[in-house]
Amino acid sequence: MNISSSKAAFSEAQELIPGGVNSPVRAFSSVGGTPIFVEKGEGGYLVDIDGNRYIDYVQSWGPLIFGHTDEAIENAVIAAVKKGLSFGAPTLAETELAKLVVGLIDSIDKIRFVSSGTEAVMSAIRLARGYTGRDDIIKFEGNYHGHSDSLLVQAGSGMITFGAPSSPGVPADFTKHTLLAKYNDIESVKKCFKDSDDIACIIIEPIAGNMGLVPADKDFLAELRKLCDENGTLLIFDEVMSGFRATLRGAESIVGTKPDIITMGKVIGGGMPVGAFGARQEIMAQLSPEGPVYQAGTLSGNPVAMAAGLAAITKLKDKSILYGILEKRALRLLEGMKKAAEKNGFSLQTNVRGSMFGFFFNDKPVKNFEHACNSDAERFAAFHRGMLEEGCYFACSLYETGFISTATTDEMIEKTVTAAEKVMANI
Ligand SMILES: *Cc1c(COP(=O)(O)O)cnc(C)c1O
Repeated sequence: MNISSSKAAFSEAQELIPGGVNSPVRAFSSVGGTPIFVEKGEGGYLVDIDGNRYIDYVQSWGPLIFGHTDEAIENAVIAAVKKGLSFGAPTLAETELAKLVVGLIDSIDKIRFVSSGTEAVMSAIRLARGYTGRDDIIKFEGNYHGHSDSLLVQAGSGMITFGAPSSPGVPADFTKHTLLAKYNDIESVKKCFKDSDDIACIIIEPIAGNMGLVPADKDFLAELRKLCDENGTLLIFDEVMSGFRATLRGAESIVGTKPDIITMGKVIGGGMPVGAFGARQEIMAQLSPEGPVYQAGTLSGNPVAMAAGLAAITKLKDKSILYGILEKRALRLLEGMKKAAEKNGFSLQTNVRGSMFGFFFNDKPVKNFEHACNSDAERFAAFHRGMLEEGCYFACSLYETGFISTATTDEMIEKTVTAAEKVMANI
């Protein structure tokens, strides 16, 4: 496969942009090699600047549940563009998208739109702190909630559950209110409540997609709900990735536990930059200008972004059976990959939730971040390189989730399984 144009483009980009990319995971650093530079998308395919075509299982890291260049979304965006790019004044599309989302997700009465998942989560946490009048928050190892200061934490030293910054530039004072717990381990959460009586919220990805795909156990989520209720703590479901990806009506509709606040992003913008957070009326009433908790954005609820989101969510609502169809395709893909792995003497742990899929080169089931870290990173890197050669574009890190779109056909799945059989025999 010739990727000489991508190689040249990457060298030039590196002269001007740190690492040559505007978001680190795009750099392929964990699998080696050169990131491909994209010329365009076509339905379920990605075309690079050397003219190579790939079946795309990344889909812009989640947003494109209808694949690239979806006609309805494209038309909605073009119509909006012709009326003006931004006004900084209310438009009808904001209320329409709000009505749609609030109607679909039981636990929220009101919603506010922002421009990224990071912003949605940052604002949701401020809201939880403002509402409860408390400072501490609990997050889980291996869950990602964007790059705001208080969420860039890793385990601190020794017995202490309070987190340490995971990035230079984040003062330890900013993360000292973030307690770290273990995913799917209720005892570690109880310990946090022993260490602090000032916990504003627990934030969790109910279907974790940033340590590979690791869904939370139903019982675990129910216990979190109970602990929150007993302690006057709010439960935040970060559904920036899983929202409208795993199912139409939020994780709450499949796990049976309801959060107090939900954050969304990715699919809700149909490929444009949109984030959102919502909650019941009494919590949202704390938000500025109705209440005292400040939050704002020049481009929040941008009309072009709202048009894309509205087109995407409208289509999803009208065709909710597609989640079952996408899940079947994802299951078939992973079944094929698992068999190919086993034929070559190693095991693959797999998970599917709606259009989301994950796989680990690991002998044991993966329930938390520590388990995910015990996966075979070298084998993953070899798999990734091999699949790319075969024209299948998978996320370039074993800690990412894969995505099926409505443009990913059964034929493309079968082609991918055949490619996986070939690649697995050589790794
Ligand atoms: C992607 C993601 C974010 C951050 O969203 P950005 O739009 O990249 O800022 C936050 N939380 C989760 C669960 C995500 O998957």
